[in-house]
Amino acid sequence: MKNVVIVGGGVAGLFAAHEIVSCSRKLKVTIIEMGESAGERKCPLESYKMCTRCKPCNIMSGVGGAGLFSSGLLNLHPKIGGDLIEFASHEEYAWKLIEHVDRIFVDCGAPEKVFKPDEKKVEELERKAASAGITFIPITQRLIGTENAKNVIACLERKLKEKGVKFILRTRVINVERGSLLLSSGETLNYDYCILAPGRSGMRWLAEQMSKLDVETRYMPVDIGVRVEVPATIMEPICNVQRDPKFHIYTHTFDDFVRTFCVNHHGYVVMEVYDDHIGVNGHSILTKPSPNTNFAILDRIELTEPLEDTTAYGNSIARQITILGGGKPIVQKLGDLRKGRRSTWSRIKRGAVTPTLNNVTPGDISMGLPHRILTSIIEGIEMLDKVIPGIASDSTLIYAPEIKYSAKRVTTNEKLETKVEGLFVAGDGAGVSRGIVGAAVTGVVAARGILEKEGER
Ligand SMILES: Cc1cc2nc3c(=O)[nH]c(=O)nc-3n(C[C@H](O)[C@H](O)[C@H](O)COP(=O)(O)OP(=O)(O)OC[C@H]3O[C@@H](n4cnc5c(N)ncnc54)[C@H](O)[C@@H]3O)c2cc1C
Repeated sequence: MKNVVIVGGGVAGLFAAHEIVSCSRKLKVTIIEMGESAGERKCPLESYKMCTRCKPCNIMSGVGGAGLFSSGLLNLHPKIGGDLIEFASHEEYAWKLIEHVDRIFVDCGAPEKVFKPDEKKVEELERKAASAGITFIPITQRLIGTENAKNVIACLERKLKEKGVKFILRTRVINVERGSLLLSSGETLNYDYCILAPGRSGMRWLAEQMSKLDVETRYMPVDIGVRVEVPATIMEPICNVQRDPKFHIYTHTFDDFVRTFCVNHHGYVVMEVYDDHIGVNGHSILTKPSPNTNFAILDRIELTEPLEDTTAYGNSIARQITILGGGKPIVQKLGDLRKGRRSTWSRIKRGAVTPTLNNVTPGDISMGLPHRILTSIIEGIEMLDKVIPGIASDSTLIYAPEIKYSAKRVTTNEKLETKVEGLFVAGDGAGVSRGIVGAAVTGVVAARGILEKEGER
C-alpha cells in the first residue's frame, strides 16, 4: 500500500483524508497534527473571550484546527473564503464540491437548517445597495454554532479512525524533504504522497519549506481595518435577510476595495493575543445573545516593490496600535473619530452602545491606522449607512486593529500539486482558502489529485 501523509489535522487535512479513505483501496492515510484530538482540546470560547493571555496556538492547534472554537459558519459560495472556481474546471464543479463538503458536515451532525436568503428580499437589498454604490453578495449559509463545532469535528475524527486513518498527535513536522518528513519526535516518515495543510498557524513554516524545496510562493493582499459594534436592532432588518451579510464597496477617495466580514448578530467582540501584538475579532454564543451586533470592515491592501510583504506591513500597524492602547485594543466612538478627539470611558458611557469587550483602551484610532485606510473605512461606513440606517451614528463603536492576513500563496497546478511530484498543499496556510468551506474543498481537490494519479478517479 502507498502512504499518504497529511500535515495538519484542520478542516483541510480532515477532508482530504476523508476523500482518500472513501475512494481508495490502495492508499494508507496518516495525519500528523501538533495539537490534541478534538475531544481533548480545551480553550472554550467563554474563557477565550475573557482571557487576555490566551495564546493563539490553543485556539489554532489540534484536530479541527482553527475552526474548532469558531462559530462554524459555513459560507456555501465559491467566491467567499477563497476563489474556489480556480480549482474547478468550471463553476458548476465548484458548486458540486461545496455541496459535497456541506453534506459531510451535515452527516457529522451540522444542523440540517440552512439560512437561504429570500429571493424577494435579496432583490430589494441588492437594489438599495446598488443605489448607494455597494454590491450585496447573497449567499446560503449553514451555522454549526460554537457549541456544536467540537462535536461535528470529533464525529469526523472518529469516522476517519474507523476507516483506518492513523493520527499522530502532539507531533510537529519539522522538515519537509522529497519523499520524507522529519518529525519533532526525531522520527523520519516516508511518503509516496504528502498534503501540507498547516493552516495559518503554520503559514510561515510552510513558506520556509517551500523556499527550501525551490517551490515559488507569492504574497497575497492583507485586509486591514476595524470591528464595528452597533445595537442589534440596527442590523436586524439586514440580518433577517442574511445571517452574515457581505457587502463589497469601492471607496470614493482612493477607489479602495472595502468589505464587511464576519457579522456576529447579538454577538461579542473578542480580543486576540499574539506574540507581539493584539487584535480584535467577534463571535456569537447562540445560548447567550448580547444586545449588540458586530462586524469587521476591512480595506484590502496589495503591495508591490520595494515592500511586497503584506504580513510585515499588517504586523507593523497592529504593533503600533498595541503600543498606543497599552497592550489592549483601542475602542473609539465613531463621533469622536470624526471630530478628531480620543474617546474616554465617560464619552462611551454617554453613547447608545455598551461595549461587549471591556478589556480595551478608549483612544484615538486615527493615531494608529494610516490615513488611506482610515479614510476608506470611514467612507465605507458612511456609504453603508444608506443601506443600513444608523450604522454611521456618532455612538457606533469602532475597535482596532482587525487584520486578516493571507498566507503566501504556494504555486501549484489546479490539482494543488507543487512542482515537487507527489507534494500537494491545501487550506489557509498555503493561501488557497480563507474559511472553513474553502479549506475543506481544497483538501478534497488535493485528495482527488492524488486519487487521479493512482487511477482511482
Ligand atoms: C476565532 C476564529 C473564528 C473563525 N470563524 C470562522 C467561521 O465562522 N467560518 C469560517 O468559514 N471560517 C472561520 N474561521 C477561519 C477557519 O477557522 C479557517 O479558515 C479554517 O480553520 C482553515 O482550515 P485549515 O485546515 O486550512 O487550517 P487550520 O484549521 O488552521 O488547521 C491547521 C492545523 O495544522 C496544524 N499544524 C500546523 N503546522 C503543523 C506542523 N508543522 N506539524 C503538524 N501540525 C501542524 C495546526 O496545529 C492546525 O491544527 C475562523 C477562525 C478563527 C481563528
